[in-house]
Amino acid sequence: MKNIKDYNLDELQDELINIGEKKYRAEQIFKWLYVEKVKSFDDMTNLSIELRNKLKENYEICNYNIIKKQESSDGTKKYLFDVLDGNAIETVLMQYHHGKTVCVSSQIGCKMGCKFCASTGIKFVRNLTAGEIVEQIIAVEQDINDKISNIVFMGIGEPLDNYDNVIKAIKILNNQKGLNIGTRHISVSTSGIVPRIYDLANENIQCTLSISLHATTDEKRSSMMPVNNRYNIEELLKACKDYIKITNKRISFEYALAKDNNDNLEDAKRLVKLLKGMLCHVNLIPINKIENGAYTKSTNENIIKFRDYLNDNGIVATIRRELGSDIDAACGQLRRKNLK
Ligand code: SF4
Repeated sequence: MKNIKDYNLDELQDELINIGEKKYRAEQIFKWLYVEKVKSFDDMTNLSIELRNKLKENYEICNYNIIKKQESSDGTKKYLFDVLDGNAIETVLMQYHHGKTVCVSSQIGCKMGCKFCASTGIKFVRNLTAGEIVEQIIAVEQDINDKISNIVFMGIGEPLDNYDNVIKAIKILNNQKGLNIGTRHISVSTSGIVPRIYDLANENIQCTLSISLHATTDEKRSSMMPVNNRYNIEELLKACKDYIKITNKRISFEYALAKDNNDNLEDAKRLVKLLKGMLCHVNLIPINKIENGAYTKSTNENIIKFRDYLNDNGIVATIRRELGSDIDAACGQLRRKNLK
């Protein structure tokens, strides 16, 4: 059965016309799904019983059950959702002073194999559909009975490897008649799939692009992120520069600092050289230690030195606040534990 949340508003209008209904019904349904967040067609009380039955015959409404929820003392919540086909996905809610941010998964498992990531031990199963991506935000909003203001595609999966569904999900999330989350409040993070960065540049979507860079030489980056063997640092940064030229938007570079790996002054110097003159910001991430992981967190002293060197040399850099450190907050950890 088709999930009705897999359609954006235009598509839903076409679907309604195809089943012999008026186009404006789509807006009513959209409102029920994303504003009222009803779980059943029977709750759509301004639709005739006949139309509700027709909808039931043709579609289902995807609603997640929470398999497990962990709560951190800093307010971070980590959810394991049942996606109703025997698979489970992770979603994380983080509370910042500027609002509530949800970190969504875009795939079940991931193909990219980044060595510092807890998802690496989980094999790729399938892409999430647009509706399954959007449902993560709805399910969290329902659980906390509050609005989400920001979304980051930094959960399990490489969003640009599930490009069409991610773009469609962003459009559904952004629709003013539904969840109405501004694209400026949506951030897409990629390990560096170069052709899709060009595609995204030409989408005319105002979301923020984050690049997981994490190293300053191809040798080091390839050892951490196999994607670098396919698209090296030079190609990646060329795509980033072109992206900025086309969109006039600042790129955020993620750099996870791992002790004795990529956190010394020579790395900082090379990073300045690579990013000099770019409209960008560097997010330094104290790496999360994962079970059997190859990397450990840098010392606080090194992290601060690294940040100060970048800032003193014209690259704006901040250290990401560690949230959820008392729960399994590194991507993939909750799911992996429950799959054992
Ligand atoms: S860091 Fe992201 S892209 Fe890399 S393996 Fe983990 S989920 Fe995939």
